[in-house]
Amino acid sequence: MRRGGIVAKTGLHFVNLFGLRINLSPSWFLVAALVVWSLSQRYFPDALPGLGRWDYVWIGVLAMLGLFGSLVLHELAHALVARQNGVTVGGITLFLFGGVAELKSEPGTPGAEFRIAAVGPAMSLALALGMAAAAALARRAGLAAPVPALLDYLSLANLVLALFNLLPAFPLDGGRILRAGLWRLRGNPGEATRISGAISQAIAWGLILLGFLSLFAGGSVDALWLILIGFFLATVAASTVRQIEMRVALDGRMVSQFMTRNVITADPRETLREMADRVMLGRAASFVPVVERGRLMGFVDIRLLRGIDREHWDDTHVDDIFVACTEENTVPPDMPSGALLERILAGGPRKYLVARGSRLEGVVTLSDLLHFLGMAETLRSGVPAHCR
Ligand SMILES: [Zn+2]
Repeated sequence: MRRGGIVAKTGLHFVNLFGLRINLSPSWFLVAALVVWSLSQRYFPDALPGLGRWDYVWIGVLAMLGLFGSLVLHELAHALVARQNGVTVGGITLFLFGGVAELKSEPGTPGAEFRIAAVGPAMSLALALGMAAAAALARRAGLAAPVPALLDYLSLANLVLALFNLLPAFPLDGGRILRAGLWRLRGNPGEATRISGAISQAIAWGLILLGFLSLFAGGSVDALWLILIGFFLATVAASTVRQIEMRVALDGRMVSQFMTRNVITADPRETLREMADRVMLGRAASFVPVVERGRLMGFVDIRLLRGIDREHWDDTHVDDIFVACTEENTVPPDMPSGALLERILAGGPRKYLVARGSRLEGVVTLSDLLHFLGMAETLRSGVPAHCR
């Protein structure tokens, strides 16, 4: 799997591989514990009867680590092929239902989309075959029974991982492969996104329905898994479609195309009263760059002003309260707008100074981006067909 809209982008930084950050979501630890527990209670006692209770726990821990390595290899395959196809990769996060390689943009062609998506399941399939071959060799070499049993388990787990990821539903790899195929066939990436999104929803709700039917027919607890996975897919598929559409709409557009130019600025020597009357009340601006003799210093906003008692507005100067420019709040005009949106969605500020060196070029806000995306959406779907 890779990139889901609602999947947490944060996580504990675990290790770097090939210059990629590998992160662990806190939910992974819960999964790891569940995997060890269920393997040592059920799977291995069935597959390898006659061992002590702690032997099963140790084998369960090894199997969990092998599963962890398999997931990392699956995501690493996506990340490296993405990089080869000119897509920047932020890092890899392992979470509740597997892993995500965070790709910073959409692939430019259906071929690239297909290669990046297909290599994950291909890697898992190759691991499944490799582990099965290793298990056969271990048996033939007469190694202790837990060795082939562990390899059998890893072979099975990788096979399940490959098949599950081939389900044609976002955010699974199969959903991306489907989108790449439709894109190639019909030549329209937007249409491909919408059709694959609809198919993803149908599959997700199909799984939920299947889960409930099997539950009512007296099915086991496994039915609950179907329902849980169905709900997960339904939610993340919808946000994946939104994310793809936003990225495609913003693709190739720079911050300078969205920013407000010729903004009114404040002088650091002004009092807050003067600044509030002239700028905030006079021009209804709530985010005001502070400029001294052509040099951008930082900004003041309505929130900072509210923090100062009105009776002090005459003896406090802009200089005393403004927030200085930092990389956090200032962006260059040639920054890709998709990257800015990602930054805002990842919890960054909603308003930015746009500057080239120390020269102010404008300001850009989340609502500027959303306004554009709203217009793109209206132009695409809101206009009746005969008017297009
Ligand atoms: Zn994948």
